[in-house]
Amino acid sequence: MRIPHGWSIGHKLTRVILISCGVSLLMACTALAAYDFVTFREDLAESLIQTARATGANATAALSFGDAGSVREILSSLSAQNHIVQACVYRLDGAILASYVRSGAHPDPLPPSPGPYGIASKPGQVALFQPIKRDGERIGTIYLDSDTEELYAREWRFAEIALVVVLASFVTACLLAAPLQRAISEPVRELAQTVSAVSLGKDYSIRATKSSEDEIGSLVDGFNEMLDRIHERERALQSARDDLEVRVSERTSELQKEIAERKNTEQKLEERTAFFNSLIENSPIAIVAVGIDDIVQFCNPAFENLFGYPRADVIGKSLLRLLTNEEIRAEVAANREALWKGKVIHTVSRRARSDGTLVDVEAFSVPLGPTGHRTGAVMQYQDITERKRAEEALLRAKDAAESASRAKSEFLANMSHEIRTPMNGIIGMTELTLDTQLTPEQREYLGLVWASADSLLKLINDILDFSKIEAGKIDLENIEFPFQQSLDETLKSLVLRAHQKDVELSWRVGPGIPGYLKGDVGRLRQIIVNLVGNAVKFTKRGEIKVSVEAESESDAEVMLHFQVRDSGIGIPKEKQRMIFDAFTQVDSSTTRNYGGTGLGLAITSRLVHLMGGKIWVESEPGRGSVFHFTSRFESIGAEQQTAHSESPEAIRGLPSTVAPTSTPQAAQGMKILLAEDNAVNRRLAMALLQKRGHRIAATENGQEALDILERENFDLVLMDVQMPVLDGLDAIRAI
Ligand code: ADP
Repeated sequence: MRIPHGWSIGHKLTRVILISCGVSLLMACTALAAYDFVTFREDLAESLIQTARATGANATAALSFGDAGSVREILSSLSAQNHIVQACVYRLDGAILASYVRSGAHPDPLPPSPGPYGIASKPGQVALFQPIKRDGERIGTIYLDSDTEELYAREWRFAEIALVVVLASFVTACLLAAPLQRAISEPVRELAQTVSAVSLGKDYSIRATKSSEDEIGSLVDGFNEMLDRIHERERALQSARDDLEVRVSERTSELQKEIAERKNTEQKLEERTAFFNSLIENSPIAIVAVGIDDIVQFCNPAFENLFGYPRADVIGKSLLRLLTNEEIRAEVAANREALWKGKVIHTVSRRARSDGTLVDVEAFSVPLGPTGHRTGAVMQYQDITERKRAEEALLRAKDAAESASRAKSEFLANMSHEIRTPMNGIIGMTELTLDTQLTPEQREYLGLVWASADSLLKLINDILDFSKIEAGKIDLENIEFPFQQSLDETLKSLVLRAHQKDVELSWRVGPGIPGYLKGDVGRLRQIIVNLVGNAVKFTKRGEIKVSVEAESESDAEVMLHFQVRDSGIGIPKEKQRMIFDAFTQVDSSTTRNYGGTGLGLAITSRLVHLMGGKIWVESEPGRGSVFHFTSRFESIGAEQQTAHSESPEAIRGLPSTVAPTSTPQAAQGMKILLAEDNAVNRRLAMALLQKRGHRIAATENGQEALDILERENFDLVLMDVQMPVLDGLDAIRAI
């Protein structure tokens, strides 16, 4: 049996209950009816057998005598039993003796002879053949034929009663089914309503009401639990969605910003590109781009102008072929090879024009793309014909200027001797005259002459020194000297000058400086005299301290650090740099107050640099200055140091123009040979030496000196260097 899907559960339950009840009732009634039918039929057959037995027994005598009338009488008593339709008694030979038919009945004809004994059933009829016995011996047969109407009537009654019972039961079942099914279907219906409310309204906060602890109760629990979870998930989902929406909107605005930026950048790029294009197009420098195969891909108007090719004629051609001829091809090809290896090539060279002439160019070639992925190269050419011409002119001018400068320097260097000689004469003679009897007035005037000449000589010395240095004509000497002793001598000569100004001069030599050094002691002395001289000049009172430290020392050399500290007027910060330039002084009033040329520090700083050092100053106006300089000297080996310390005199030697001919006997009363071409100087030297008690023989040149030396012996020979006929150096070599 099929139940339509669309039915409500209440409907279905009612149906199930009613169908189950109906079917069971029907089955029960049918079983009862069948049972009743069968037993009733058996009862009927049994009653037929009893009737046949009783009737047969009654008819035994009449049958024995063949009395048909008696038998008929006996049979007519069967009318009391309404269900018997007909009956008959057969004789032993099988012939009918007497028969009976129920009044009003129209039965089938009697069987002509007795059939087999026992009950025979046909629809609507039950018949019986039974023997009639006397003293156990069969004397005939009785036949009874009964209809089944009573049976059927009874069954109909039964069926009617059953129907009434079934209907009554059905109605009762219906009445009972409604509340029963509701107990089950109602919670399910409620659950279904909740489900549809949830699903329609998407409201996961609704909960089903639990009304029992049975399976439906668990179902409601399970459903609510599921709703809890869905609700939770829904909330998480919602928050994730909200989150996502926020992120999406953020990202969207970012993207919009990026797009705007990109557009902006693109626009800028376009502008830049246009700018660069116009730069390239309008550049006066010829620009050409080639691929790695050296084929021209692009060139600018300046390129067309410089090499005389229209653009259309160069695109797609080999640049090497276009711009070179036999003469320069190899050079350019070599450059090209280096270029492809990643080198930026910068050359000043020549390139061929379309008409075959060569043009002077300065060329830059730059490879494009990284090593292994070169895409080509860009070359730039600048026409330098004019520049070349100008350079050549400049070179010629420079050569001319240099030779002029050389001539000037040579002139100055030569002049130095010539100028100093008469100056020495003036100063020497003035000093000699000052030693004679003079009136106070004469003495004062001569004193002024001496002071003027002395400062003129200093000035000349400075200028000559400076021009010598500028002309690169200074060669430093490299001789061994006793450091401490030289320093002492130099500073002692300045002590007097300091004391005249009431200024204390002291000095200190730090540890670790070797006793003997190798270098130009004369220039070192000049530097110190200059710095200490300035310190004395610019200090009114207080003290000047000189200190020397070994800054660094190796086997080969030692770097000394000198400091000259004074408590003088100081130098403003902004002037500290320029005082080392030539002819600069802190200010003009200083010049007036202190005099000077502004050359001293310029010479000093150049000398310091020549000696491998640096010079700088720390100073504060009104508080004094510290001049620092460093100077490099060669170290001499430990063995030589000891040798020197054992015979110190050996190293001090003698002035370069003085050569002993024999051991000097005494500081006074020596016999001296003088060779000097300048008459004034000769006179001066003679006067000075004679004043000290020496005997002098004077000659005018080296040859004359050699001639005299052939004949006489002298304690000492004093020789000028530059002299006519034979100069001092050659004369000394001959001696
Ligand atoms: P000058 O012949 O003028 O002394 P320098 O070259 O020796 O020439 O010095 C340049 C200038 O530097 C000086 O004129 C002076 O203004 C300044 N100067 C040099 N040494 C000192 C010092 N010890 N104290 C103050 N000023 C100094």
